[in-house]
This record gives sequence, structure tokens and C-alpha cells, in this order.
Amino acid sequence: MGIPSRREAQGDRRYDVVIIGGGINGTSAARELTAAGYKVLLAEMFDLAHGASSRSSRILHCGLRYFETSRPLRSFLSSPRRLASAAGMARAAMQARAELSALRPEICKPFTMCFPVYGGDAVKGWHLDLGFGLLRRLGPARPVLDYRRVAGDFDRHVPFVCDLRDRDRLRSVATYREYIIDSPDRLCVDAALEAERGGAELRLFTRATIAGRTAEGGWSLRLSGQGSVEMVEAPVVLNLAGTWSDEIIAGIAPEPRVPLVTGTKGAHIVVRLPPRYAGHGIACLHRGGHPFYCLPLGGDLFCFGPTETPYGGDAADAVATDEDVAFLIEEANFLLPGLRLRRSDVVFTWAGVRPLGYDARQPMGRRVREIHDLADRGLPGIFAMTAGPVMSHLSAGRDLRKAVGRVLAPSRLPPVPPLPASRPDPAAGDAARMRHAVGAEHARDLMGILYTRTGLAWGRHLDRRTVEVAAETVSDLLGWSPGDVATQVDSFMRHQNIRFARRETDRLSVDRVEART
Ligand SMILES: Cc1cc2nc3c(=O)[nH]c(=O)nc-3n(C[C@H](O)[C@H](O)[C@H](O)COP(=O)(O)OP(=O)(O)OC[C@H]3O[C@@H](n4cnc5c(N)ncnc54)[C@H](O)[C@@H]3O)c2cc1C
Repeated sequence: MGIPSRREAQGDRRYDVVIIGGGINGTSAARELTAAGYKVLLAEMFDLAHGASSRSSRILHCGLRYFETSRPLRSFLSSPRRLASAAGMARAAMQARAELSALRPEICKPFTMCFPVYGGDAVKGWHLDLGFGLLRRLGPARPVLDYRRVAGDFDRHVPFVCDLRDRDRLRSVATYREYIIDSPDRLCVDAALEAERGGAELRLFTRATIAGRTAEGGWSLRLSGQGSVEMVEAPVVLNLAGTWSDEIIAGIAPEPRVPLVTGTKGAHIVVRLPPRYAGHGIACLHRGGHPFYCLPLGGDLFCFGPTETPYGGDAADAVATDEDVAFLIEEANFLLPGLRLRRSDVVFTWAGVRPLGYDARQPMGRRVREIHDLADRGLPGIFAMTAGPVMSHLSAGRDLRKAVGRVLAPSRLPPVPPLPASRPDPAAGDAARMRHAVGAEHARDLMGILYTRTGLAWGRHLDRRTVEVAAETVSDLLGWSPGDVATQVDSFMRHQNIRFARRETDRLSVDRVEART
């Protein structure tokens, strides 16, 4: 064991592990560590899933994208290391796809992804055959990839083919099964609640700061939030603060300070598409050479994205700018000129910042998931993670538990029986689900109720009256006066308009798209 063991419990303020960050990786680690018998406290400065975890593209993908570069053969033949790394990530993706889709079928929705291949493109049909052959060998057999490459009679096999560009140059279309993670926020909530049932303590709306070393060589942390300050101690700290991870260690890391994280922003636009798109998505490389998708979000809503731009601001403020929206519309129209999308067709937008690994040689960050043991930087007992996607959070939790296990044994026996799931009744009505979010799931505001826990606001813009009714439904549980209700509604409307910026009409635009078909 590389660091001093935890002293026998003295009061309630000592934990085996304090986790900073209630995103997908923090909550998954909390569940794993609690189940292994560690005494865990998780602090989240806002609500669960406040950071990148609620702002991703939501794909549970098979790993093909790790082989997608504008010059795949040249790139991999010139660097066997790059190929080995891509193969490792693809294997992990296939495993995550199998595990998560089996465990949460109600959240992971299958669809048919289509990859158009044009004459003259760098990506050839046989590259895809090779890529899928590799994926089949690398990953579990189920769920099936359902890979096919259609080389003619496109109209019969690819329902939206009439909208594609350059039909005369279209050589083939690869189709395969992917999944959309319908509600990444809910995965965070469930993991946190399962950890709590096993004995973990949750402190939401509580900012954690590492105050310094304890006499025993552990760490002392200040937790401030909800009008109080609390000091706690633990020999192990998991810094799972995503793009904020460098701030967590800024005051305590000795010089020279090499950053942990590089943030890159990804923006998305959401539009309504005609019925022929139902159940389908499109993958390609955009003209800048990065992966670009059209993804089914449910019903007639589809998103195009993401962008990939460096981002240095506070990730909580990331929104799709006019420039992002213009770029995404241009690329969507380049891919599918038949749609003739306009700015007024955009129903809403969202953006997030990826917490990628810092690498001086890769200005856009390192995309391989890494656990950083900060003992190397003079911070024994502190671990961080970069580039951990939503889709592989289950294995991230296990890997973090193993990393902790190398320096500290659990102070308790694992909870018996194993942690039960805590899920709301899917058949319950909206009001019951909202009240459950407050009464049983720690929701404290309308964002936490309508987005994070119930998902009732996702994919639509709620009007003020609907939000007022939602606030009145839970006001007794939260002790809100009529004045508080109005303040909460204002705050929700602001959040909805900024974070999911709405661009003009939706009903009208779908009529126009249908009229063009
Ligand atoms: C545009 C985009 C597209 C993506 N697409 C996909 C995809 O298709 N599939 C996929 O699987 N993944 C995707 N990802 C990646 C994925 O979303 C992230 O890698 C993942 O969510 C990171 O989770 P995390 O828990 O490490 O960080 P976060 O979710 O950012 O969580 C960090 C948390 O720490 C909290 N925090 C920060 N400082 C403190 C403090 N001092 N005290 C307490 N709490 C603090 C924050 O509030 C935040 O909630 C995408 C990401 C983006 C941005």
C-alpha cells in the first residue's frame, strides 16, 4: 500500500474515499466503491450530470469511429502503435455496447446507422468491410452488428437516399446497428442513488476544495454549499471533476504544473425530419475530416453534430453559437442537400465540453480514457480521469475501484444484499414522477426535476404555464412560497432558453420539410 491507511473512524467526517464530481464517472465510481465496502462521500458542486455527462452526442457506438480518419490506411500503416491503440479502444467500445445495452435496454435505443461511401472518397467500401471484420473479432458476438454494405438498389434499402448528395457517385452504403443513450443524466442519477443505498453519502450543490494534507498523510477537504461549510478527511480523493479537474488541484500541486485536461467543445443542432428517416442515423466525415452524425433522438427529432473546437471557458457556459449553428447547417446540407435545411428549421441546440487528456503534442486533446495517479505529481492518494465517455462508465467505475484498491483496502464489508436499483415506476404519471424526483432522488430545482431525473423537458421547449404547473406540483415538498415558484419558473425558462437555445418555429418547419418530399 503506497499511502497511509485510513485511521479508525473518528466521528462522521472521515471517509475512505471522497469523490469530487457527480458526472457519469464520479457516480459510477461511487457505486463501485460502495459496493466493494469503501466508505464514500460524493460531492457535486451543482446537480448530478451537470457537466459533460448531460451534454454529449449520446451515442453508444461500436467503435468504428476509432478507425475513421481521413486517410485510414496511410495513418495506420505508418503507425502500428496508433492501430493498436485504435483496436484497444474499439474492443472497449464493443464491450461497453454489449454490457450497457443489455443492462439498460429502456435507455439504450437501437437504430440503423448508415455510412455512405462515394467514389473518390478516402474511405473505401472495403475499408469498412475490414473495420467491421475487426470489430467482430475484437468484441462480443451480441448484440449483433448487423453489418451490411448495400452496393445498389439504394432506394429500397436506404429510405432517405433521395436526399443524399451526388447520387451518381454513390458507390455503396454501409448499414449497422448502433444505440442512442436516451438519458445519460438518468444513468448518473441511478448510479448515485444506488451508491447512496449502499451507504455512500451524497452532497449535491456542494463545492469541494482540497484544503491540504492531514497529519496522517491523507487529505482534508472543504465542502461548501447550501449555506454551510464542512471539513472532511480521506486518504483517497477521486478528482472526477471533468473539465474542472485542473482547478481541483491548482492550489496544492507542486510546480511545474502540467494540465490534466484539454477541453474541446461539441455543438449539436436538432431538427425535425420526415418519416422516411425513422429508425435511421447517418455517420460520415465532415469536410474538416472529423466524424459527423445525423442521430435519431426519438419521434421526428434528429440531431446533427458534433462540432470540434478548442474551448477555454467555463464548461457550464458552453452553448452552440451562431457560428456553430451555421457550420452544422452547412454540413447537414452538404450531406443531405435534399433537406434544404435552414436556420429556422432548428428546433433547439446544445453544446458540451469534452474533458480530454492534455497532451502538448495533440492540441485537440488525447481521446483515450486514462486514470491519472497523481502521486507522480506529488499528490499521493489523488486520482483523476480524463476522456472517460458515458458509454463505458461501468468499466470506468471498475477501473477506478481497482486503482483505489492498489493503495487502500475497504474499511467495511460490502453491503448485503448487493445494492438494489432505485428506479421510479415507468408507468407513473408525470406528477408522480416529479414528486418522486424530489422526495426520493434529491431534486432541488426544476432543471433537476424536468431534465436530469424525469427527462420530461428533454427534446421539447416547455411553455411557461406547463413549467408553472410543474413547480406547483412539487412546491409543498420543497417548501416553495408563491414567490419562490415564480423565481424557480424564471430560472428554468432562462436555463431552457440559454442551454437549449431555441431557433424559431418547429411545427411550421416540419410542414415545410414534408411539403418538399
Ligand atoms: C459534444 C460531446 C459529445 C460527446 N459524445 C459522446 C458520445 O456520443 N458517447 C459517449 O459515450 N460520450 C460522449 N461524450 C463524452 C462524455 O460526455 C464525457 O467524456 C463524460 O460525460 C465525462 O464524464 P465525467 O464524469 O468525467 O465529467 P462531467 O460529466 O463533466 O462531470 C464532472 C462533474 O464535476 C463537477 N465538479 C467540478 N468541480 C467540482 C467541485 N469543485 N466540487 C464538486 N463538483 C465539481 C461538475 O459540476 C460536473 O458535474 C461527449 C462529450 C461531449 C462534450
